[in-house]
Amino acid sequence: MNTHHYDYDLIIIGGGLVGMALAQALRGSGVSVLLLEARGLPEKTEDSRPLALSHGSRVILERLGVWKALPEVTPITTIHISNRGGFGRTVLKAAEIGVPALGYVLNHHDVFRSMHEAIKSCGVDYLVGAQVTRLETGVGTGQIEFLHNGIPKNATARLLVLADGGRLTAQIEGITQHVQDYEQWAVVARVKSEYFPDNALAGSGKPAMTKGRSPARSASMPGSTGTKSKRVHDRYGVAYERFTQDGPVALLPSGEYFALVWTVSSSAAQEILSLDDMAFLARLHEHFGDRLGKFVEAGKRSGFPIALKYATPVTACRVALIGNAAQTLHPVAGQGFNLGLRDAWELADEIIVSPAEIGNSAMLVRYGLRRRVDSGVGRIFTDSLVRLFSNDDLMLASMRGVGLSALDCLPPAKRFVARRMMFGARG
Ligand SMILES: Cc1cc2nc3c(=O)[nH]c(=O)nc-3n(C[C@H](O)[C@H](O)[C@H](O)COP(=O)(O)OP(=O)(O)OC[C@H]3O[C@@H](n4cnc5c(N)ncnc54)[C@H](O)[C@@H]3O)c2cc1C
Repeated sequence: MNTHHYDYDLIIIGGGLVGMALAQALRGSGVSVLLLEARGLPEKTEDSRPLALSHGSRVILERLGVWKALPEVTPITTIHISNRGGFGRTVLKAAEIGVPALGYVLNHHDVFRSMHEAIKSCGVDYLVGAQVTRLETGVGTGQIEFLHNGIPKNATARLLVLADGGRLTAQIEGITQHVQDYEQWAVVARVKSEYFPDNALAGSGKPAMTKGRSPARSASMPGSTGTKSKRVHDRYGVAYERFTQDGPVALLPSGEYFALVWTVSSSAAQEILSLDDMAFLARLHEHFGDRLGKFVEAGKRSGFPIALKYATPVTACRVALIGNAAQTLHPVAGQGFNLGLRDAWELADEIIVSPAEIGNSAMLVRYGLRRRVDSGVGRIFTDSLVRLFSNDDLMLASMRGVGLSALDCLPPAKRFVARRMMFGARG
């Protein structure tokens, strides 16, 4: 007979970034929380993907007490969006919008480790190596079965929160998961371009990628005179989003490097991942064009298959979905974690405001309504970008060019787009 049984207000299934964010947001609330993560030693996980976070996400991470512990953060001061092989481009600048940064580039594993450390002291029961195998819900409670280091256990709670990336959604009655494979992969790596050489930052006495260093400060660094250095300063903090007929390529500023997110077709992914460094850099240069000169250095490469997945609705009896379990998006617009953080934050808010209602249908309806517009707009915006910009239809190509040029000439429209990128659908 199974003697391991636990009872909580809330069980969070999945200790990825979003599940941990929810647990953190509930610290000190008096709500009892069990957080279960399937991976055995999650802190050892190396995840090379970069994360572009909005200003709104920074505010949430500060409130969660995680932001300060992040070792490497690069502010995005400019976003340069262009269309390879066509006219039209637009440039969004933080100064024009009146904010210090349009967003920030971080490393997924740095955020993960900071949260993992914070979670250990936030009063949550946090089990790693704990894989949920089955869940069931009734009117008053949800029940789960899980294997913790191979030992079967079960637990009950007033609310089960799925933060598992969508792996268990099929077990929940009343929720449909929509999946659309883009037949694309994202290849990620750190690369360096010839216009951003090491020696441009020489004399700073610290690693180039230091949290919060402003572009203005880098402009006054020793070694920053002359034509080449001027080009470096022009590029510090600039994110490049370039649309090509095979899909978008993003180069996000990451200290003196760029964090590359290169969308390639599924059929080309393995070949590109297995190229040697020189061939990879040459291929990237050929694909991206000459805007940043040649690429001269590449770090470890990883590949992620890309699909659009989303659940409707995001709640069921005694169940709420957050993060990738609610919506998994193409990384082109860097929206996934930003949205997931807002899911976690707003669900925590509902729980804290009315703890007596945890998991009841009124609370779940409110959570679903609060997330509907933000999630829907993020999904439609991201999916439209992929469809509009990842094809070679001539008509669409000229519409793209006109759209980008028009946006560039309309400051109010630029501010509108930038605010949505920084704070979500409600701006
Ligand atoms: C290449 C790439 C670039 C990206 N760039 C950006 C960006 O710039 N900005 C941005 O906002 N977003 C970005 N994203 C999206 C972002 O990475 C995700 O949205 C975010 O990491 C989702 O976190 P999550 O916790 O919801 O899900 P996941 O990371 O999928 O975590 C789910 C967790 O649940 C655990 N789990 C699964 N099943 C079980 C089970 N049965 N029992 C217990 N635990 C379980 C898993 O082990 C995992 O730890 C990018 C994604 C990719 C692929």
